[in-house]
Amino acid sequence: MSQPRRVAVIGGGIAGNAAALALARKNISCTLFDMGRSLGGRVASRQLEQQGQPLSFDHGAQQVTAIGADFQAQLAEWQAAGVVAEWRGRHGEIAGGAFRPRPEQPGSGSGGSGSGFCGSLTGLPLYVGVPNNNAIAQHMAGQLQAHPNAQLQSGVAVQAVERVGGGCGCGSGGSKWQLRGSRRGRAAAAEPEPVEQQTDLGLFDAIVLADAMPLLPGSAGHVAGIEAASTSLAQLARSVQAVAPEPCFALMVAFREPLPDVPFDSASVAGDASSSSSSGDSSGGSRAAFQWVACNSSKPGRPQLSGGAPQCWVALTTAQRAKQILERRPLSTADGRFNPQTEQYRAEVAAELLADFRALMQPFVQGDLPEPLYTHAQRWGRAFATQPLGAEMLFLPAQRLVLCGDVCTGSSVEAAWRSGRAAGNATADMLLADAAA
Ligand SMILES: Cc1cc2nc3c(=O)[nH]c(=O)nc-3n(C[C@H](O)[C@H](O)[C@H](O)COP(=O)(O)OP(=O)(O)OC[C@H]3O[C@@H](n4cnc5c(N)ncnc54)[C@H](O)[C@@H]3O)c2cc1C
Repeated sequence: MSQPRRVAVIGGGIAGNAAALALARKNISCTLFDMGRSLGGRVASRQLEQQGQPLSFDHGAQQVTAIGADFQAQLAEWQAAGVVAEWRGRHGEIAGGAFRPRPEQPGSGSGGSGSGFCGSLTGLPLYVGVPNNNAIAQHMAGQLQAHPNAQLQSGVAVQAVERVGGGCGCGSGGSKWQLRGSRRGRAAAAEPEPVEQQTDLGLFDAIVLADAMPLLPGSAGHVAGIEAASTSLAQLARSVQAVAPEPCFALMVAFREPLPDVPFDSASVAGDASSSSSSGDSSGGSRAAFQWVACNSSKPGRPQLSGGAPQCWVALTTAQRAKQILERRPLSTADGRFNPQTEQYRAEVAAELLADFRALMQPFVQGDLPEPLYTHAQRWGRAFATQPLGAEMLFLPAQRLVLCGDVCTGSSVEAAWRSGRAAGNATADMLLADAAA
């Protein structure tokens, strides 16, 4: 009788969770590794108390739309389970210092400049996780936890792999992937790198890489040894390095009292960032600084303003503004090591971006913006894959490896979900065919 097959899924964002669920549902045993303290990757939320008041921010993915029928069905299932809800806010676009609502219906014209930030101007319903966007990933992880074929290992960074047994690294031929890594026990990118003791994470028949980082030397998630395993993997690593994803900073701001008179709950910010200069120029600079701004408190299921909760806002910088900040506060140190975002780093960036936020909101508030109760910043070094590889997944059956996630298909929750599911299904089918042969 053949041995049960085991798959390692590296990356616990939406793609990795979707891949692991697809594998488990096809009776393939899988272990999902993520180096973050909690799963979800860029579907990230921050909840805390400030002076006894609850604050809630989605500082990664802002909202979810569904274009394909398969993802519409998935959203309907999550909605029925109470994991997502429609965000029926006042959505639209800021252009030239004025707010313009988006069309009511998909494709009904006057949609401002294109589809807006992550499709928010298309007129499609916008969905959010409840009570925060990370709840979507937590729900998927809960389904995995309940599945007898799946294991979850969060707070574990996979750091090295090696092809062992079978010798050639081509075809299964009895060879397996040996994984090594370390348990970090805290958010990998948030604090100075802890001293890590690498341990054996086990032997696996196949790997699903549910992120590009493992293929990128110098990134927080680089996995040594992948490129060395075969020329196809070295080529894959080079293709991934050639995709230059755009960075973004998220500014989180809370006010004791709701800002009066603001005519929107979310807005894509129009304007060619390259045509206006950086912050410091308060007229053009504010337009160049952000691509999206939202009142997080207007999303369903968030702490109630009527109950006295502070009003929480999130603004996302343009890539150009993020690059300006990164020139002074880079992602990597001079010797090529990952440069973590410390609390001081975040505080300095938040102070800088608060000035941009004041300029952006100035046309919509009476007088000056009040002093915030709380500010925070999050760096996303690889926020958006603007030139994805253009395939749903990249499958290397001879190496027993598949790459999935938004590096393949482009940045959206929908694309990551579809890519992960396809990778999980393809890997399961390959291993089931092996077993039947
Ligand atoms: C600020 C921001 C706003 C966005 N807004 C929207 C939006 O409104 N709507 C929308 O649809 N999309 C939005 N997106 C895009 C969307 O969030 C992403 O496209 C999607 O979440 C990507 O999912 P993923 O699973 O491919 O990757 P990720 O979510 O990045 O997950 C990859 C995971 O792999 C882990 N990992 C990497 N290497 C290792 C390793 N060696 N060991 C262990 N773990 C590892 C990482 O820790 C991470 O958790 C936004 C993105 C950002 C950054």
